[in-house]
Amino acid sequence: MTDQPVRVRFAPSPTGYLHIGGLRTALYNYLFARSHGGKFILRIEDTDLSRTVEGAEDDIFQALEWCDMKVDEGPREGGDYGLYRQSERKEIYREYAEKLVESGNAYYAFDSEEDLTRMRERLQKSGNPSPKYDAITRQSMNNSLTLPSEETERRLNEGEPHVIRLKVPRREVVRFEDEIRGIVSFETKGLDDQVLLKSDGMPTYHLANVVDDHLMKISHVIRGEEWLSSTPKHILLYQFFGWETPVMAHLPLIMSPSGGKLSKRKAEEQGIPINARDYISDYYEPEAVVNFLAYLGWSPGDDSEIHSLEELCQIFSLDRVIKAGAVFNQKKLLWYNEHYMRERTDRQLAEQVKEIAFDNDTDVEIDYLEKVVSLMKERVSKVDEFDSLGRFFFEDPEEYDKKALKKWSDESPDLIAGYRERIGEIPEAEFKADTLKTAAKELIEEREVGFGKLMMPLRLAVTGIGFGPEMFPAMELLGKETVLRRIDRAAERLG
Ligand code: GLU
Repeated sequence: MTDQPVRVRFAPSPTGYLHIGGLRTALYNYLFARSHGGKFILRIEDTDLSRTVEGAEDDIFQALEWCDMKVDEGPREGGDYGLYRQSERKEIYREYAEKLVESGNAYYAFDSEEDLTRMRERLQKSGNPSPKYDAITRQSMNNSLTLPSEETERRLNEGEPHVIRLKVPRREVVRFEDEIRGIVSFETKGLDDQVLLKSDGMPTYHLANVVDDHLMKISHVIRGEEWLSSTPKHILLYQFFGWETPVMAHLPLIMSPSGGKLSKRKAEEQGIPINARDYISDYYEPEAVVNFLAYLGWSPGDDSEIHSLEELCQIFSLDRVIKAGAVFNQKKLLWYNEHYMRERTDRQLAEQVKEIAFDNDTDVEIDYLEKVVSLMKERVSKVDEFDSLGRFFFEDPEEYDKKALKKWSDESPDLIAGYRERIGEIPEAEFKADTLKTAAKELIEEREVGFGKLMMPLRLAVTGIGFGPEMFPAMELLGKETVLRRIDRAAERLG
Protein backbone atom coordinates (compact mmCIF):
# COMPACT_ATOMS: atom_id res chain seq x y z
CA MET A 1 0.00 0.00 0.00
CA THR A 2 1.16 3.47 -0.73
CA ASP A 3 0.26 6.19 1.72
CA GLN A 4 -0.86 8.49 -1.07
CA PRO A 5 -4.51 9.46 -1.17
CA VAL A 6 -6.46 6.79 -3.01
CA ARG A 7 -7.06 7.67 -6.66
CA VAL A 8 -8.12 4.92 -9.00
CA ARG A 9 -9.15 4.97 -12.60
CA PHE A 10 -11.33 3.05 -14.98
CA ALA A 11 -9.58 3.37 -18.33
CA PRO A 12 -11.64 1.79 -21.10
CA SER A 13 -10.79 1.99 -24.77
CA PRO A 14 -13.88 2.99 -26.73
CA THR A 15 -13.41 0.24 -29.29
CA GLY A 16 -16.82 -1.35 -28.87
CA TYR A 17 -19.65 -1.62 -26.42
CA LEU A 18 -18.68 -1.97 -22.79
CA HIS A 19 -18.27 -5.62 -21.91
CA ILE A 20 -19.60 -7.04 -18.66
CA GLY A 21 -15.99 -7.65 -17.56
CA GLY A 22 -15.24 -3.97 -18.12
CA LEU A 23 -18.24 -3.03 -16.03
CA ARG A 24 -16.97 -5.24 -13.22
CA THR A 25 -13.54 -3.57 -13.43
CA ALA A 26 -15.25 -0.20 -13.18
CA LEU A 27 -17.27 -1.41 -10.20
CA TYR A 28 -14.26 -2.73 -8.27
CA ASN A 29 -12.43 0.52 -8.87
CA TYR A 30 -15.46 2.47 -7.75
CA LEU A 31 -15.94 0.35 -4.61
CA PHE A 32 -12.26 0.58 -3.77
CA ALA A 33 -12.28 4.36 -4.17
CA ARG A 34 -15.38 4.77 -2.02
CA SER A 35 -14.21 2.35 0.66
CA HIS A 36 -11.08 4.50 1.07
CA GLY A 37 -12.66 7.90 0.69
CA GLY A 38 -10.72 8.20 -2.57
CA LYS A 39 -11.44 9.38 -6.09
CA PHE A 40 -12.87 7.40 -8.99
CA ILE A 41 -11.54 8.64 -12.28
CA LEU A 42 -12.72 7.83 -15.78
CA ARG A 43 -10.09 8.07 -18.49
CA ILE A 44 -10.90 7.29 -22.08
CA GLU A 45 -7.97 5.50 -23.72
CA ASP A 46 -8.61 6.32 -27.34
CA THR A 47 -5.12 6.61 -28.77
CA ASP A 48 -5.84 4.01 -31.42
CA LEU A 49 -8.20 6.16 -33.43
CA SER A 50 -8.60 3.53 -36.13
CA ARG A 51 -10.28 1.28 -33.57
CA THR A 52 -12.44 3.92 -31.91
CA VAL A 53 -16.11 3.14 -32.42
CA GLU A 54 -18.70 5.87 -32.53
CA GLY A 55 -21.10 5.70 -29.64
CA ALA A 56 -18.76 3.60 -27.52
CA GLU A 57 -17.97 6.47 -25.18
CA ASP A 58 -21.64 7.27 -24.64
CA ASP A 59 -22.22 3.61 -23.99
CA ILE A 60 -19.63 3.69 -21.18
CA PHE A 61 -21.19 6.74 -19.57
CA GLN A 62 -24.63 5.26 -19.83
CA ALA A 63 -23.58 2.00 -18.17
CA LEU A 64 -21.86 3.76 -15.27
CA GLU A 65 -24.83 6.02 -14.75
CA TRP A 66 -27.24 3.11 -14.87
CA CYS A 67 -25.29 1.41 -12.08
CA ASP A 68 -25.19 4.67 -10.17
CA MET A 69 -21.39 4.85 -10.11
CA LYS A 70 -20.54 8.50 -9.89
CA VAL A 71 -17.39 9.60 -11.65
CA ASP A 72 -15.32 12.15 -9.72
CA GLU A 73 -13.06 13.18 -12.57
CA GLY A 74 -13.47 12.40 -16.23
CA PRO A 75 -14.00 13.77 -19.73
CA ARG A 76 -17.45 15.11 -18.87
CA GLU A 77 -16.86 15.93 -15.23
CA GLY A 78 -13.49 17.63 -15.69
CA GLY A 79 -10.95 17.63 -12.88
CA ASP A 80 -7.60 18.99 -11.80
CA TYR A 81 -5.48 16.63 -13.84
CA GLY A 82 -6.02 17.94 -17.31
CA LEU A 83 -8.00 16.34 -20.06
CA TYR A 84 -9.29 12.85 -19.51
CA ARG A 85 -9.43 11.67 -23.11
CA GLN A 86 -6.03 10.46 -24.31
CA SER A 87 -6.58 11.64 -27.87
CA GLU A 88 -6.69 15.15 -26.46
CA ARG A 89 -3.39 14.72 -24.60
CA LYS A 90 -1.30 13.74 -27.58
CA GLU A 91 1.49 16.32 -27.11
CA ILE A 92 2.26 15.11 -23.64
CA TYR A 93 3.32 11.64 -24.70
CA ARG A 94 6.01 12.59 -27.23
CA GLU A 95 7.70 14.69 -24.61
CA TYR A 96 7.88 11.73 -22.24
CA ALA A 97 8.97 9.30 -24.94
CA GLU A 98 11.83 11.66 -25.78
CA LYS A 99 12.83 11.88 -22.14
CA LEU A 100 13.37 8.15 -22.23
CA VAL A 101 15.49 8.46 -25.37
CA GLU A 102 17.61 11.09 -23.61
CA SER A 103 18.09 8.88 -20.57
CA GLY A 104 19.13 5.96 -22.78
CA ASN A 105 16.08 3.84 -22.07
CA ALA A 106 14.39 4.19 -25.44
CA TYR A 107 15.55 4.81 -28.98
CA TYR A 108 14.40 5.97 -32.40
CA ALA A 109 13.82 3.21 -34.92
CA PHE A 110 13.46 3.84 -38.65
CA ASP A 111 12.76 0.33 -39.88
CA SER A 112 10.16 -0.02 -42.58
CA GLU A 113 7.49 -2.72 -42.56
CA GLU A 114 9.62 -4.68 -45.06
CA ASP A 115 12.68 -4.44 -42.82
CA LEU A 116 10.67 -5.90 -39.96
CA THR A 117 9.23 -8.69 -42.05
CA ARG A 118 12.68 -9.57 -43.38
CA MET A 119 14.07 -9.71 -39.85
CA ARG A 120 11.25 -11.99 -38.69
CA GLU A 121 11.59 -14.30 -41.66
CA ARG A 122 15.34 -14.54 -41.23
CA LEU A 123 14.95 -15.48 -37.57
CA GLN A 124 12.17 -17.94 -38.22
CA LYS A 125 14.34 -19.68 -40.80
CA SER A 126 17.11 -20.03 -38.29
CA GLY A 127 14.73 -21.77 -35.91
CA ASN A 128 13.28 -18.97 -33.77
CA PRO A 129 9.50 -19.47 -33.67
CA SER A 130 8.67 -16.10 -32.13
CA PRO A 131 11.14 -13.51 -33.39
CA LYS A 132 11.22 -10.24 -31.52
CA TYR A 133 12.70 -6.84 -31.89
CA ASP A 134 14.86 -7.16 -28.81
CA ALA A 135 18.29 -6.70 -27.27
CA ILE A 136 19.84 -9.02 -29.85
CA THR A 137 17.97 -8.15 -33.03
CA ARG A 138 17.97 -4.41 -32.45
CA GLN A 139 21.71 -4.49 -33.13
CA SER A 140 21.18 -5.26 -36.78
CA MET A 141 18.27 -2.88 -37.39
CA ASN A 142 18.00 0.77 -38.39
CA ASN A 143 17.81 2.66 -35.15
CA SER A 144 19.53 5.34 -33.15
CA LEU A 145 21.57 2.68 -31.35
CA THR A 146 23.14 1.33 -34.55
CA LEU A 147 23.25 4.44 -36.76
CA PRO A 148 25.87 7.17 -36.24
CA SER A 149 24.34 9.99 -34.27
CA GLU A 150 24.65 12.47 -37.18
CA GLU A 151 22.70 10.04 -39.34
CA THR A 152 19.96 9.74 -36.76
CA GLU A 153 19.91 13.52 -36.44
CA ARG A 154 19.65 13.92 -40.21
CA ARG A 155 16.82 11.43 -40.55
CA LEU A 156 14.87 13.06 -37.75
CA ASN A 157 15.41 16.53 -39.21
CA GLU A 158 14.25 15.36 -42.61
CA GLY A 159 11.12 13.97 -41.04
CA GLU A 160 11.77 10.36 -41.88
CA PRO A 161 9.04 8.14 -40.44
CA HIS A 162 10.12 6.57 -37.17
CA VAL A 163 8.90 5.09 -33.94
CA ILE A 164 10.29 5.25 -30.44
CA ARG A 165 10.97 1.88 -28.85
CA LEU A 166 11.53 0.88 -25.27
CA LYS A 167 15.04 -0.47 -24.70
CA VAL A 168 14.17 -3.59 -22.76
CA PRO A 169 17.20 -4.89 -20.84
CA ARG A 170 18.50 -8.20 -22.10
CA ARG A 171 18.45 -10.50 -19.12
CA GLU A 172 16.67 -9.19 -16.14
CA VAL A 173 13.81 -10.31 -14.01
CA VAL A 174 11.03 -7.78 -13.48
CA ARG A 175 9.35 -8.43 -10.20
CA PHE A 176 6.38 -6.73 -8.67
CA GLU A 177 3.84 -7.37 -6.00
CA ASP A 178 0.28 -7.73 -7.13
CA GLU A 179 -2.33 -7.08 -4.44
CA ILE A 180 -4.30 -10.10 -5.57
CA ARG A 181 -1.67 -12.45 -6.94
CA GLY A 182 1.27 -11.79 -4.66
CA ILE A 183 4.77 -11.62 -6.13
CA VAL A 184 4.75 -11.85 -9.91
CA SER A 185 7.93 -12.06 -11.96
CA PHE A 186 8.67 -11.94 -15.65
CA GLU A 187 11.92 -12.37 -17.50
CA THR A 188 12.75 -9.52 -19.82
CA LYS A 189 14.10 -11.89 -22.38
CA GLY A 190 10.51 -12.71 -23.31
CA LEU A 191 9.67 -9.07 -24.01
CA ASP A 192 9.71 -7.10 -27.21
CA ASP A 193 11.30 -3.65 -27.46
CA GLN A 194 7.81 -2.25 -27.22
CA VAL A 195 6.89 0.61 -29.54
CA LEU A 196 6.03 3.55 -27.30
CA LEU A 197 5.37 6.21 -29.88
CA LYS A 198 4.06 5.29 -33.29
CA SER A 199 5.12 6.84 -36.58
CA ASP A 200 1.92 8.91 -36.66
CA GLY A 201 3.01 10.49 -33.38
CA MET A 202 0.40 8.70 -31.32
CA PRO A 203 1.49 6.83 -28.22
CA THR A 204 0.75 3.15 -27.77
CA TYR A 205 -1.37 2.01 -24.88
CA HIS A 206 1.68 1.23 -22.73
CA LEU A 207 3.24 4.67 -22.84
CA ALA A 208 0.01 6.64 -22.56
CA ASN A 209 -1.28 4.45 -19.76
CA VAL A 210 1.84 4.80 -17.61
CA VAL A 211 2.34 8.50 -18.26
CA ASP A 212 -1.28 9.25 -17.44
CA ASP A 213 -1.38 7.05 -14.37
CA HIS A 214 1.62 9.00 -13.12
CA LEU A 215 0.38 12.46 -14.07
CA MET A 216 -3.07 11.73 -12.68
CA LYS A 217 -1.50 10.51 -9.42
CA ILE A 218 -3.17 7.11 -9.64
CA SER A 219 -2.42 5.21 -6.44
CA HIS A 220 -3.81 1.79 -7.42
CA VAL A 221 -4.15 0.18 -10.82
CA ILE A 222 -7.06 -2.24 -10.67
CA ARG A 223 -7.69 -3.97 -13.98
CA GLY A 224 -8.45 -7.30 -15.61
CA GLU A 225 -6.00 -10.20 -15.66
CA GLU A 226 -5.61 -9.85 -19.40
CA TRP A 227 -3.35 -6.87 -18.70
CA LEU A 228 -1.02 -8.75 -16.40
CA SER A 229 1.41 -9.57 -19.20
CA SER A 230 1.70 -5.86 -20.04
CA THR A 231 2.63 -4.98 -16.49
CA PRO A 232 6.38 -5.82 -16.72
CA LYS A 233 6.68 -3.27 -19.52
CA HIS A 234 4.88 -0.77 -17.37
CA ILE A 235 7.13 -1.53 -14.40
CA LEU A 236 10.18 -0.90 -16.60
CA LEU A 237 8.68 2.39 -17.69
CA TYR A 238 8.12 3.48 -14.10
CA GLN A 239 11.71 2.55 -13.26
CA PHE A 240 13.14 4.36 -16.27
CA PHE A 241 11.14 7.49 -15.55
CA GLY A 242 12.15 7.27 -11.90
CA TRP A 243 8.52 7.26 -10.79
CA GLU A 244 6.86 5.37 -8.01
CA THR A 245 4.82 2.45 -9.34
CA PRO A 246 1.17 2.43 -8.27
CA VAL A 247 -0.09 -0.60 -6.40
CA MET A 248 -1.07 -3.23 -8.96
CA ALA A 249 -4.12 -5.47 -8.69
CA HIS A 250 -5.20 -7.79 -11.49
CA LEU A 251 -8.75 -9.08 -11.30
CA PRO A 252 -9.63 -12.68 -12.13
CA LEU A 253 -10.98 -13.52 -15.55
CA ILE A 254 -14.69 -14.08 -15.95
CA MET A 255 -15.23 -17.69 -16.97
CA SER A 256 -17.96 -19.34 -18.96
CA PRO A 257 -20.07 -21.97 -17.13
CA SER A 258 -18.94 -24.34 -19.89
CA GLY A 259 -15.27 -23.70 -19.08
CA GLY A 260 -12.73 -21.28 -20.50
CA LYS A 261 -12.88 -17.53 -20.68
CA LEU A 262 -16.33 -16.07 -21.22
CA SER A 263 -15.98 -15.00 -24.83
CA LYS A 264 -18.61 -13.29 -26.88
CA ARG A 265 -19.31 -16.52 -28.71
CA LYS A 266 -19.64 -18.59 -25.55
CA ALA A 267 -21.87 -15.98 -23.99
CA GLU A 268 -24.13 -16.00 -27.03
CA GLU A 269 -24.33 -19.78 -27.02
CA GLN A 270 -25.50 -19.77 -23.43
CA GLY A 271 -27.78 -16.78 -23.65
CA ILE A 272 -25.58 -14.74 -21.32
CA PRO A 273 -25.82 -11.00 -21.92
CA ILE A 274 -22.25 -9.93 -22.65
CA ASN A 275 -22.41 -6.15 -23.00
CA ALA A 276 -23.47 -3.77 -20.27
CA ARG A 277 -26.10 -2.31 -22.60
CA ASP A 278 -27.77 -5.73 -22.97
CA TYR A 279 -28.58 -5.69 -19.28
CA ILE A 280 -30.23 -2.34 -19.71
CA SER A 281 -32.23 -3.32 -22.75
CA ASP A 282 -33.15 -6.72 -21.28
CA TYR A 283 -34.74 -5.02 -18.27
CA TYR A 284 -32.39 -6.23 -15.57
CA GLU A 285 -32.49 -4.34 -12.29
CA PRO A 286 -29.33 -2.24 -11.95
CA GLU A 287 -29.03 -3.05 -8.23
CA ALA A 288 -29.09 -6.75 -9.08
CA VAL A 289 -26.38 -6.42 -11.71
CA VAL A 290 -24.21 -4.43 -9.31
CA ASN A 291 -24.67 -6.93 -6.49
CA PHE A 292 -24.05 -9.87 -8.83
CA LEU A 293 -20.93 -8.33 -10.38
CA ALA A 294 -19.51 -7.46 -6.98
CA TYR A 295 -19.64 -11.16 -6.10
CA LEU A 296 -18.14 -12.22 -9.41
CA GLY A 297 -14.61 -12.53 -8.05
CA TRP A 298 -15.07 -11.17 -4.57
CA SER A 299 -17.04 -11.96 -1.42
CA PRO A 300 -17.14 -10.31 1.99
CA GLY A 301 -16.07 -13.49 3.79
CA ASP A 302 -19.36 -14.19 5.55
CA ASP A 303 -22.46 -15.74 4.06
CA SER A 304 -24.26 -12.49 3.36
CA GLU A 305 -25.24 -12.05 -0.27
CA ILE A 306 -27.50 -9.07 -0.57
CA HIS A 307 -25.81 -5.70 -0.47
CA SER A 308 -26.68 -2.36 -1.97
CA LEU A 309 -24.05 -0.35 -3.80
CA GLU A 310 -23.73 1.83 -0.75
CA GLU A 311 -23.11 -1.15 1.54
CA LEU A 312 -20.65 -2.65 -0.91
CA CYS A 313 -18.71 0.61 -0.74
CA GLN A 314 -18.30 -0.01 2.98
CA ILE A 315 -17.30 -3.66 2.91
CA PHE A 316 -15.30 -4.09 -0.29
CA SER A 317 -11.62 -4.90 0.00
CA LEU A 318 -9.03 -6.06 -2.51
CA ASP A 319 -7.70 -8.75 -0.21
CA ARG A 320 -10.91 -10.70 -0.61
CA VAL A 321 -10.74 -10.73 -4.39
CA ILE A 322 -10.01 -14.25 -5.65
CA LYS A 323 -7.16 -15.23 -7.95
CA ALA A 324 -8.88 -18.03 -9.82
CA GLY A 325 -11.33 -17.32 -12.62
CA ALA A 326 -14.83 -16.34 -11.56
CA VAL A 327 -17.54 -18.43 -13.19
CA PHE A 328 -20.54 -16.54 -14.52
CA ASN A 329 -23.60 -18.08 -12.88
CA GLN A 330 -26.69 -16.97 -14.69
CA LYS A 331 -29.06 -18.53 -12.18
CA LYS A 332 -27.46 -16.42 -9.51
CA LEU A 333 -27.91 -13.33 -11.63
CA LEU A 334 -31.64 -14.05 -11.96
CA TRP A 335 -31.84 -14.79 -8.27
CA TYR A 336 -30.44 -11.35 -7.55
CA ASN A 337 -32.78 -9.86 -10.10
CA GLU A 338 -35.82 -11.47 -8.50
CA HIS A 339 -34.73 -10.21 -5.13
CA TYR A 340 -34.38 -6.58 -6.17
CA MET A 341 -37.45 -6.67 -8.35
CA ARG A 342 -39.59 -7.96 -5.49
CA GLU A 343 -38.35 -5.19 -3.27
CA ARG A 344 -40.37 -2.76 -5.34
CA THR A 345 -44.00 -2.05 -4.57
CA ASP A 346 -46.63 -3.53 -6.85
CA ARG A 347 -47.48 -0.02 -7.91
CA GLN A 348 -43.92 0.71 -9.01
CA LEU A 349 -43.75 -2.52 -10.96
CA ALA A 350 -47.13 -1.86 -12.52
CA GLU A 351 -45.89 1.52 -13.73
CA GLN A 352 -42.89 -0.18 -15.27
CA VAL A 353 -45.03 -2.83 -16.97
CA LYS A 354 -47.22 -0.09 -18.36
CA GLU A 355 -44.17 1.52 -19.86
CA ILE A 356 -42.60 -1.67 -21.21
CA ALA A 357 -45.67 -3.48 -22.49
CA PHE A 358 -48.05 -0.66 -23.32
CA ASP A 359 -45.82 2.21 -24.23
CA ASN A 360 -47.46 4.12 -21.38
CA ASP A 361 -50.84 3.91 -23.07
CA THR A 362 -53.22 5.95 -20.90
CA ASP A 363 -56.09 3.54 -21.56
CA VAL A 364 -54.36 0.84 -19.59
CA GLU A 365 -55.66 0.78 -16.05
CA ILE A 366 -52.90 0.88 -13.54
CA ASP A 367 -55.05 -0.74 -10.84
CA TYR A 368 -55.56 -3.76 -13.04
CA LEU A 369 -51.83 -3.95 -13.77
CA GLU A 370 -51.12 -3.75 -10.08
CA LYS A 371 -53.30 -6.79 -9.47
CA VAL A 372 -51.58 -8.67 -12.28
CA VAL A 373 -48.23 -7.80 -10.72
CA SER A 374 -49.28 -9.03 -7.33
CA LEU A 375 -50.37 -12.39 -8.78
CA MET A 376 -47.25 -12.86 -10.89
CA LYS A 377 -44.54 -11.33 -8.75
CA GLU A 378 -43.28 -14.57 -7.23
CA ARG A 379 -43.07 -16.24 -10.61
CA VAL A 380 -41.15 -13.85 -12.77
CA SER A 381 -37.43 -13.15 -12.74
CA LYS A 382 -37.40 -9.94 -14.75
CA VAL A 383 -39.90 -7.17 -15.09
CA ASP A 384 -40.47 -7.76 -18.82
CA GLU A 385 -41.77 -11.23 -17.98
CA PHE A 386 -44.94 -9.72 -16.52
CA ASP A 387 -45.73 -9.07 -20.14
CA SER A 388 -44.25 -12.13 -21.83
CA LEU A 389 -45.58 -14.65 -19.27
CA GLY A 390 -48.67 -12.70 -18.29
CA ARG A 391 -49.88 -11.73 -21.74
CA PHE A 392 -53.13 -13.62 -21.14
CA PHE A 393 -54.11 -11.00 -18.59
CA PHE A 394 -54.41 -8.55 -21.44
CA GLU A 395 -55.67 -10.58 -24.37
CA ASP A 396 -57.26 -13.92 -25.18
CA PRO A 397 -54.74 -16.58 -26.16
CA GLU A 398 -54.40 -16.84 -29.91
CA GLU A 399 -52.48 -20.07 -29.79
CA TYR A 400 -51.95 -22.88 -27.34
CA ASP A 401 -48.52 -23.86 -26.17
CA LYS A 402 -47.48 -27.10 -27.91
CA LYS A 403 -45.91 -28.70 -24.89
CA ALA A 404 -48.87 -27.86 -22.68
CA LEU A 405 -51.24 -29.25 -25.32
CA LYS A 406 -50.01 -32.74 -24.46
CA LYS A 407 -52.00 -32.41 -21.26
CA TRP A 408 -55.19 -31.92 -23.21
CA SER A 409 -56.51 -35.50 -23.17
CA ASP A 410 -59.65 -37.22 -24.39
CA GLU A 411 -61.30 -36.59 -21.06
CA SER A 412 -60.50 -32.89 -21.11
CA PRO A 413 -63.43 -31.59 -23.20
CA ASP A 414 -65.97 -33.27 -21.00
CA LEU A 415 -64.34 -32.16 -17.75
CA ILE A 416 -63.96 -28.61 -18.96
CA ALA A 417 -67.58 -28.59 -20.09
CA GLY A 418 -68.65 -29.78 -16.65
CA TYR A 419 -66.68 -27.03 -14.99
CA ARG A 420 -67.98 -24.42 -17.37
CA GLU A 421 -71.50 -25.38 -16.51
CA ARG A 422 -70.85 -25.00 -12.81
CA ILE A 423 -69.11 -21.68 -12.94
CA GLY A 424 -71.56 -20.37 -15.52
CA GLU A 425 -74.14 -20.42 -12.75
CA ILE A 426 -72.08 -18.36 -10.33
CA PRO A 427 -73.40 -14.80 -10.23
CA GLU A 428 -70.89 -12.26 -11.42
CA ALA A 429 -70.45 -10.65 -8.01
CA GLU A 430 -69.50 -14.05 -6.54
CA PHE A 431 -67.06 -14.98 -9.27
CA LYS A 432 -64.24 -15.19 -6.74
CA ALA A 433 -61.21 -17.40 -6.28
CA ASP A 434 -62.66 -19.47 -3.45
CA THR A 435 -66.02 -20.06 -5.14
CA LEU A 436 -64.20 -21.09 -8.30
CA LYS A 437 -62.04 -23.44 -6.29
CA THR A 438 -65.03 -25.01 -4.55
CA ALA A 439 -66.67 -25.60 -7.90
CA ALA A 440 -63.53 -27.37 -9.12
CA LYS A 441 -63.32 -29.54 -6.01
CA GLU A 442 -66.93 -30.59 -6.25
CA LEU A 443 -66.50 -31.54 -9.87
CA ILE A 444 -63.43 -33.68 -9.45
CA GLU A 445 -64.96 -35.46 -6.48
CA GLU A 446 -68.05 -36.21 -8.47
CA ARG A 447 -66.04 -37.46 -11.44
CA GLU A 448 -63.47 -39.20 -9.27
CA VAL A 449 -60.45 -37.75 -11.04
CA GLY A 450 -57.28 -36.01 -9.82
CA PHE A 451 -57.09 -32.23 -9.55
CA GLY A 452 -54.52 -32.00 -12.35
CA LYS A 453 -56.88 -33.61 -14.81
CA LEU A 454 -59.07 -30.56 -14.65
CA MET A 455 -56.52 -27.88 -13.86
CA MET A 456 -54.05 -28.45 -16.68
CA PRO A 457 -56.60 -28.18 -19.49
CA LEU A 458 -58.33 -25.34 -17.68
CA ARG A 459 -55.07 -23.41 -17.50
CA LEU A 460 -54.41 -24.09 -21.14
CA ALA A 461 -57.86 -22.90 -22.14
CA VAL A 462 -57.74 -19.72 -20.10
CA THR A 463 -54.08 -18.74 -20.49
CA GLY A 464 -52.80 -20.62 -23.54
CA ILE A 465 -49.73 -21.80 -21.64
CA GLY A 466 -48.84 -24.56 -19.22
CA PHE A 467 -47.60 -22.58 -16.24
CA GLY A 468 -48.24 -19.33 -14.49
CA PRO A 469 -49.82 -17.84 -11.41
CA GLU A 470 -52.44 -19.54 -9.31
CA MET A 471 -55.45 -20.20 -11.50
CA PHE A 472 -58.39 -19.23 -9.29
CA PRO A 473 -57.22 -15.75 -8.35
CA ALA A 474 -56.20 -15.24 -11.99
CA MET A 475 -59.69 -16.22 -13.13
CA GLU A 476 -61.24 -13.90 -10.59
CA LEU A 477 -59.17 -11.06 -11.96
CA LEU A 478 -60.00 -11.92 -15.57
CA GLY A 479 -63.71 -11.93 -14.74
CA LYS A 480 -66.57 -14.22 -15.59
CA GLU A 481 -67.22 -13.11 -19.12
CA THR A 482 -63.60 -13.50 -20.21
CA VAL A 483 -63.14 -16.87 -18.55
CA LEU A 484 -66.27 -18.34 -20.09
CA ARG A 485 -65.42 -16.96 -23.50
CA ARG A 486 -61.95 -18.50 -23.37
CA ILE A 487 -63.26 -21.86 -22.25
CA ASP A 488 -65.77 -21.88 -25.10
CA ARG A 489 -63.12 -20.96 -27.63
CA ALA A 490 -60.78 -23.67 -26.40
CA ALA A 491 -63.56 -26.25 -26.56
CA GLU A 492 -64.27 -25.18 -30.09
CA ARG A 493 -60.67 -25.18 -31.20
CA LEU A 494 -59.27 -28.13 -29.30
CA GLY A 495 -62.35 -30.35 -29.38
N1 GLU B 1 -7.41 0.80 -22.11
C1 GLU B 1 -7.26 -0.46 -21.42
C2 GLU B 1 -8.57 -1.20 -21.59
O1 GLU B 1 -9.19 -1.04 -22.56
C3 GLU B 1 -6.94 -0.18 -19.99
C4 GLU B 1 -6.19 -1.25 -19.28
C5 GLU B 1 -5.72 -0.70 -17.95
O2 GLU B 1 -6.58 -0.50 -17.09
O3 GLU B 1 -4.56 -0.42 -17.83
O4 GLU B 1 -9.02 -1.96 -20.77
